[in-house]
Amino acid sequence: MIDLRSDTVTRPTEEMREEAAGAAVGDDVHGDDPTVAELEARAADVVGMEAALFVPSGTMGNQIAARVHTDRGQEVITDRESHVVRYERAGFAQHSALQIRTIDAERGLPTPEQVRDAYLEGGLHRPPTGLLSLENTHNARGGLALDPEQFSETAATAHELDVPVHLDGARLFNAAVAHDVDVTAYTEAVDSVMFCLSKGLGAPIGSILAGSAEFIEAARGIRKLLGGGMRQAGIVAAPGLTALKNRSHLEIDHVNATRLANSLDEIEGLAITEPETNIVLADTGGLGLSAAEFLDLIEGEGVQASEFGPEIARFVTHRDVSATDIEDAIEAVTVAVSN
Ligand SMILES: *Cc1c(COP(=O)(O)O)cnc(C)c1O
Repeated sequence: MIDLRSDTVTRPTEEMREEAAGAAVGDDVHGDDPTVAELEARAADVVGMEAALFVPSGTMGNQIAARVHTDRGQEVITDRESHVVRYERAGFAQHSALQIRTIDAERGLPTPEQVRDAYLEGGLHRPPTGLLSLENTHNARGGLALDPEQFSETAATAHELDVPVHLDGARLFNAAVAHDVDVTAYTEAVDSVMFCLSKGLGAPIGSILAGSAEFIEAARGIRKLLGGGMRQAGIVAAPGLTALKNRSHLEIDHVNATRLANSLDEIEGLAITEPETNIVLADTGGLGLSAAEFLDLIEGEGVQASEFGPEIARFVTHRDVSATDIEDAIEAVTVAVSN
């Protein structure tokens, strides 16, 4: 089976397993785990922030960030297709008593004008705006890699209004690779950033939340509140250190995604959105198939993708699929839809 459902399906390499087994550990809730401390220090350095916190998942990282940045009853401005809206169980409402003001943002990035229009000062009737949450790459809009300059302008607009900015950068390194910039081209514009070690970078578990030292100190408390304080977490942090070194490999995933997209686009009835990173969206409507029907057909030929809308299937390339696997996947999908 060629598994293109997500880059989260990557398995830890032999090297990662060995590092996990040999990791120096301590009780991280007491701040005693040297491997976690090393990972947090390295991760903070990579994104150019003062401090970082190792968290079990990207979702928890985003949720902690919202909680630390805001007060109950505030609003968060974000794109309507963002992960925090679509896939986090209304966590901003549940954990932080926030209301979300969604914006239909082109490419998922609100413009400075949209931020200004959405901003509320607050008052007797109105909730004040407490946070702008941005996402890069933008998952639901097809792994779009945002332009660093436009990204910074939007973040700067929020700051002019005294609104902090969080970056859901689950796949931030994919964006940096796509634009051939250092990640700090994005992170220097925001107050906090979350990125996943467990996606294209290949670690089995974990994400990083980074920000100022003061922000991370508060975040550590919220992580404990949410039950995310982990004990000998060096066991899972050690593969994260190796994952951090896999950033440049993402380029290969992008090449594979482009190859996949170009070939799938030749299949009559399948409409492919040109990928910018490692995500390929395929509209199955022209085949007269729902996404679910399409996925059943291709699975019968040995390829898995995921359902991303009633007629949208999502293919994600990652370290565990080679260029040869991609050729095989193209062949399999072609056969599946021609039967
Ligand atoms: C995957 C993802 C997350 C959440 O990460 P988990 O580790 O699965 O909780 C958050 N934001 C975006 C954009 C993602 O793609």
